[in-house]
Amino acid sequence: MYADIVLPVPLPGLFTYSVPAHLIEQVKAGYRVIVPFGTKKLTTGLVARLHNTPPADTSIIIKDIEATVDTRPIILPYQLSSWQWIADYYLCSIGEVYKAALPALLKTDKSVKGRKTYKESSDFIDFTNNLPALSPAQQMAYDTIHEQWKQHSTCLLHGVTSSGKTEIYIHLITEALSQGKQVLYLLPEIVLTSQLTDRLRAVFGERLGVYHSKYSDRQRADVWQRQLSEKPYDIIVGVRSSVFIPFQRLGLVIVDEEHETNFKQQDPAPRYNARSVALMLASHFNAKSLLGSATPSLESYFNARRGKYGLVTLKERFGQVSLPHIEVVDTKEAQRKRQMSGLFSPRLLEVMREALNKGEQVILFQNRRGFAPQIECNICGWTPRCPHCDVSLTLHKRSQRMTCHYCGFTTEIPERCPACENDQLRQRGFGTERVEDDICREFPTAHIARMDMDTTRTRTAYEAIISEFAAGHTDILVGTQMVTKGLDFGKVSIVGILNADTMLNQPDYRAYEHAFQMMSQVAGRAGRRENQGTVILQARNADSPIISQVINNDYEAMYKTQMQERRQFAYPPFVRIITVYVKHRNPKTIEDLARELTIRLRSIFGTRVLGPDEPPVGRIQSLYIRRVLLKLEPSIPLQQARTSLLATRAELISQHSYSTAHIYFDVDPV
Ligand code: ADP
Ligand code: ZN
Ligand code: ZN
Repeated sequence: MYADIVLPVPLPGLFTYSVPAHLIEQVKAGYRVIVPFGTKKLTTGLVARLHNTPPADTSIIIKDIEATVDTRPIILPYQLSSWQWIADYYLCSIGEVYKAALPALLKTDKSVKGRKTYKESSDFIDFTNNLPALSPAQQMAYDTIHEQWKQHSTCLLHGVTSSGKTEIYIHLITEALSQGKQVLYLLPEIVLTSQLTDRLRAVFGERLGVYHSKYSDRQRADVWQRQLSEKPYDIIVGVRSSVFIPFQRLGLVIVDEEHETNFKQQDPAPRYNARSVALMLASHFNAKSLLGSATPSLESYFNARRGKYGLVTLKERFGQVSLPHIEVVDTKEAQRKRQMSGLFSPRLLEVMREALNKGEQVILFQNRRGFAPQIECNICGWTPRCPHCDVSLTLHKRSQRMTCHYCGFTTEIPERCPACENDQLRQRGFGTERVEDDICREFPTAHIARMDMDTTRTRTAYEAIISEFAAGHTDILVGTQMVTKGLDFGKVSIVGILNADTMLNQPDYRAYEHAFQMMSQVAGRAGRRENQGTVILQARNADSPIISQVINNDYEAMYKTQMQERRQFAYPPFVRIITVYVKHRNPKTIEDLARELTIRLRSIFGTRVLGPDEPPVGRIQSLYIRRVLLKLEPSIPLQQARTSLLATRAELISQHSYSTAHIYFDVDPV
């Protein structure tokens, strides 16, 4: 007998081993086994299937399975086919998907101890008594979603911030549960799970499981095991990796803040978008899915407009609170008139002061962490840079280090310029640490907290930030894009966007879409209960059309203008993009490789190939990077394109000079 096995390696396909006689009874599909791999190593893999067909290629020596790990399957059969779908679609190996999918503990050779018995959740609450009644507008949206689901399995809920989308989800979840179905609720950001979990736990108690990387390996393996048992969690709330955990009777998938780019994994492979994977899962189970956002991605809105998805709109805030009033401050002008106090305009400080006097709260948004993104010698222009990457080092004042945000390299803060001995080093730009420091000086008695990657490394740390702010112990919350998403705090009346320009000046065709989303979302944190909130939007280029679209909350206008550009210059959703990345240690080899790759791709795809070019950061961790862009119009058969891409890569890697190169694909990059 033979077993085809998934191994956690980037090589394509399954690996065939023979099952020795003494293990015939013990090896089953879905079990982990230990196999020899490579010259000396033993590896743990997963049995995909058993069969009696010897491999066609008789020159291959088939090795024996060494030992088994499990006495029952650790995945459900459908998971293998969904992994295969991901591997095919995102052009990676099924082994890479397996690696990403399983919690660390389940990838080892340790068997999981005896089957746990899970309690029936005793605190399951009687729903029709516990749920708040929907407002007429919410009820209408809820009914329309059901209407739409009759024709489309996927529906997009476009509801302004604080329209009560989450409340609608809760009603839909309740209904799915009452039909004996399971629910997957995806969020883009771990910090959001803590607030949402509190809200859902109040309704669904122990029927709710939470899954993400800030939980321990043990906890994640437990959730996984439980999902295989007879009493799985009915609802799973989690970030992108929760699309991998086993479901038995999935009936509803919710992707909240569906526009968020965090749903896409950048590195390592699989470079999947959890939104797309979730929709694939839903269709496997014949489940309904709901994408929710106040600022939908252009792709999803396009899909809804052309009838691929149902579309439901909710235009008013719950309780009929007005959307926040947005005031733009032209910081170039204010600077010229010498009105700025450092990073802050007088108008921002004034509204903050009023709010704090009334016991209200403030959120300040700056989309960079650290103290200053760059320091520079004011005589010769020298700037400390990462020795391994093509970026300047960020000054972090708390840790007293200069840090590379790409590879983590850190070094001391220089006291003087090594080139000219000058000790006057000036800072360029500013990050959240600087905002925190400066705002402390403006409001010495206020309680100030900062939420960014540096302050949220552990679960306890970000939970503390959220709960302190929710309890009103924190007056001012400073943060990166983390503060822009989905948070619901009742006492926030002021939001300050400190520097809109960094968002608008990105060299990316999505920059305007993303800037609109980020600014509208952070503005949406203000005035969520009774009184209208105020947003102060500071910008040097205050007359950018995107800014007026944000002010007018005019999603349609943003959609229209961006879609015109996308059509004109052939960008998604009018074409599909696959970026091919090449990396190599040697600067000469990388140029040769990129050129040869482009020539080969042009011979297949013609003018659909753009490049090669150097990405904004052209070297990371000592590897030079080039990329080639492939734009495929919808009529191109994808399967054929994928086969050509994989073949091209295989041919290049087989050449001696490129054998140590990395070539990989990013499908539907965000
Ligand atoms: P969104 O998800 O659209 O941003 P939320 O669901 O967070 O909006 O709703 C905003 C606020 O209004 C929340 O605090 C929520 O509890 C409250 N809310 C929404 N709908 C209702 C309702 N039907 N009854 C009572 N409170 C509601
Ligand atoms: Zn100098
Ligand atoms: Zn670096």
